[in-house]
Amino acid sequence: MIVVGAGFSGLAAATDLNSAGLDVVVVEASDRVGGKAGATVNGLGERLDIGGQYYCDDMVEVARLVERHALTVVPTPVQGEIVTQPPLDIAARAVSYAQSVGLREKLKQEMADDRNSRDSVADWLGRQDVSSNAKAGFRSMIEGLWCLPLESVPAWHLADTDRRITNEQFELQYSLAETMQALADRLAAGLGDRVRLSTPVRAVELRDGHVRVVMDTGALAARAVLIAVPPVAASRIVHTPALDAPLSGALGVWQSGSVIKARVRYATPFWRDRGLSGMVMWRDPVGLFCCDASMDGQAALGVFAGGPLARVWRRGDIRALILDHLAAALGDEARAALDVWHHDWCDDPWSGGGYGDLIVDAGAHTAEDIIRTGQPPLHFVFSELSPSFPGYIEGALIAGRAAAARIAAGL
Ligand SMILES: Cc1cc2nc3c(=O)[nH]c(=O)nc-3n(C[C@H](O)[C@H](O)[C@H](O)COP(=O)(O)OP(=O)(O)OC[C@H]3O[C@@H](n4cnc5c(N)ncnc54)[C@H](O)[C@@H]3O)c2cc1C
Repeated sequence: MIVVGAGFSGLAAATDLNSAGLDVVVVEASDRVGGKAGATVNGLGERLDIGGQYYCDDMVEVARLVERHALTVVPTPVQGEIVTQPPLDIAARAVSYAQSVGLREKLKQEMADDRNSRDSVADWLGRQDVSSNAKAGFRSMIEGLWCLPLESVPAWHLADTDRRITNEQFELQYSLAETMQALADRLAAGLGDRVRLSTPVRAVELRDGHVRVVMDTGALAARAVLIAVPPVAASRIVHTPALDAPLSGALGVWQSGSVIKARVRYATPFWRDRGLSGMVMWRDPVGLFCCDASMDGQAALGVFAGGPLARVWRRGDIRALILDHLAAALGDEARAALDVWHHDWCDDPWSGGGYGDLIVDAGAHTAEDIIRTGQPPLHFVFSELSPSFPGYIEGALIAGRAAAARIAAGL
């Protein structure tokens, strides 16, 4: 059995297939495992999460693995006031926030099962009778989270995806001192030399009921293959013979978003002295968010620019843009950063540019089911297919384990 992709969905699937007694090989394009959950080392020798980092108590698969591998859990500091930008007085802020969150709930209730609608989220939002501040807050929250403009995303798909995100705890509740990639490394270590890095898969051929996986370095044959890469990346793999039209169509209706993640270090958490949590929610610019990302006594803010904003910012001076916006929100002390580090995911060659891919064809109601069924012995999995927490590490683990169970049962 060959698993293509060593993100969390591929690693979870490979681990379960291996435990079920199958002979598994994992081939990964990049020179590390973890996919969208990666790490880097900055000039001070600190290991930083460049992508997927946070989880909460409701994400039980992640929590179980963290415990099993004895990694160090770091709670995200949350005490203090939240700032909104542009500023609103306390009463207006409470109303606007409640209305934005209310819009999100209303979208889920009205649209998640409406398979006749061709409306984008922007069409739906345009019809809502709430304040312009609430609409701007909703747009910023959703574009920041899903990394695509509301005009591109069918209302039913966003509602259906959002409905599967069921955490009651703050989703940024914890991160890991060793980084989230350390958890991927632990999973990969359990697979030993079955994981092959720097091995991009270019093509998959079906011959006499067997699968041949073609890489830059040669080819591997197997009884079955699980393509555990995001849908946009999966569509780039050439299949011989061509995939059945419904399956290739279902893989072709997704689009990757855009996100830039930054970490700004400070000598002290100056925002706490003023009773602030460090969390800032911007309505303008749309898609910008920041939170306290201090760890190991090192004061820091984590900044996330999602959606069209990331595309604009990557053409500018990102350090200056970040410091200007932090200073406007938290005061001039925010300019005295020790350093500003950022990672631009927009054109990532293997994992796409946002937290996850989204369906952008309003008629593609059956796409997820078609991909889940696959075309045995060709199988597909990625976080976005998960019944729970799609687009998250938790979703990747759940989807990967479910795919492994289906494949093991079929074989
Ligand atoms: C900036 C950022 C922040 C995030 N923050 C969080 C967070 O805090 N919490 C959270 O839960 N989630 C977060 N996410 C989302 C989370 O990281 C992803 O949903 C999850 O990791 C996806 O896992 P996956 O296995 O489905 O896909 P991926 O992680 O994309 O894994 C796919 C793997 O397949 C490989 N691959 C692709 N094409 C090929 C090919 N042709 N041949 C071989 N290998 C290939 C890729 O290199 C990659 O390793 C974040 C994502 C980003 C980008």
